[in-house]
Amino acid sequence: MSYFLKNIRRVCREISQTPSGERMGLLGRYARPKMTRLTEEAVFRSKMGSILFKRYRGKGIALMFHEVQRDVDAELRTGCAPEQLERVILAVRRQGRDIVTVDEGLQRLADPGGKPFALLTFDDGYRDNVENALPVLEKYNAPITLFVPDGLLERSAYAWWLGLRELLKQRSTLHVAPMQAEFGLYDLPSKTSALRQITSWIGTSQVRAEALGSLFANNEIDLPELIERYVMSPKDLKAVARHSLVTIGAHTSSHRFLSNLKEEECEADIRKNKQYLEALLGQDINYLAYPYGTETACGQREEDIAARLGFKASFTTRPGQLFHAHLDHLQLLPRIDVGYAPQSASALDARLTGLHRRMQAGASKPVATLS
Ligand SMILES: [Zn+2]
Repeated sequence: MSYFLKNIRRVCREISQTPSGERMGLLGRYARPKMTRLTEEAVFRSKMGSILFKRYRGKGIALMFHEVQRDVDAELRTGCAPEQLERVILAVRRQGRDIVTVDEGLQRLADPGGKPFALLTFDDGYRDNVENALPVLEKYNAPITLFVPDGLLERSAYAWWLGLRELLKQRSTLHVAPMQAEFGLYDLPSKTSALRQITSWIGTSQVRAEALGSLFANNEIDLPELIERYVMSPKDLKAVARHSLVTIGAHTSSHRFLSNLKEEECEADIRKNKQYLEALLGQDINYLAYPYGTETACGQREEDIAARLGFKASFTTRPGQLFHAHLDHLQLLPRIDVGYAPQSASALDARLTGLHRRMQAGASKPVATLS
């Protein structure tokens, strides 16, 4: 049965199990993404996106990836396939953008005659970035920046997202006590849906993320072992850092939600990561990506800390493209997620034409600065 049909079945099952008084809210949760997809599809087919959303399109665009997986379904669609990375590179180039380093991008932003560009960034330092992404990047001579926490390199970070995925892969039912929720994990759509729901429940709460710890312990989910399986070692990172297409950036030491930390703790976490990477690689670390990167995960305080620690620029995951105005907001640059499996051609187009920013932020805010 197709993924689509399975999804329809799952939605029907979920609706039938929901008490009638709560059904409207549930339908709303389904309706919004559906409306977004329909809008993206309609704009894509009309080929009008590049004209209609010109104000939302900056000289630059920073794109975010995580894992680049050979079998995206086996990993609950949390990354993208190498073929999708290739599609993104070709789509970006069709728009007349050169793929450049962050250094070059910032110079182009400052230069009134600077040509349009795109930045490719990969978070967390996954092994598959070298195994599956690098061959594609070499084929197109496309430079990238990898943002890497030392807590993952040293296998000490609380990588709840890897633990949760592994748990959902292994189990056919799951009771998540802190969330007071029960999940039937019959097939791929029910597993990806549970992953989405639990991740959305965690939101940007470190306390909720850590509440999953007993679930991992009770199910023999070994986080250091999972990190070892998926993430590069310090030795691997040293090797890839020597590649001419690769720049290494900071991503905090522990990969926690920064907004949950006290100011000194937050600053120490970012500083430790910068110093670790500089000592390991013998080079300056000039760029930072905030973990999770949303408005509730990082903001003005983190912007000030990043500037204090001497970063040339820092990336969020606020949707939007890069404009000249961002030279005054270098520590809160927007960045767009394109590195996940279910992405359609129209969803990618929406991100490149600016429609995505228009839908996320409304009509009055083409340039993402503080929000
Ligand atoms: Zn990350």
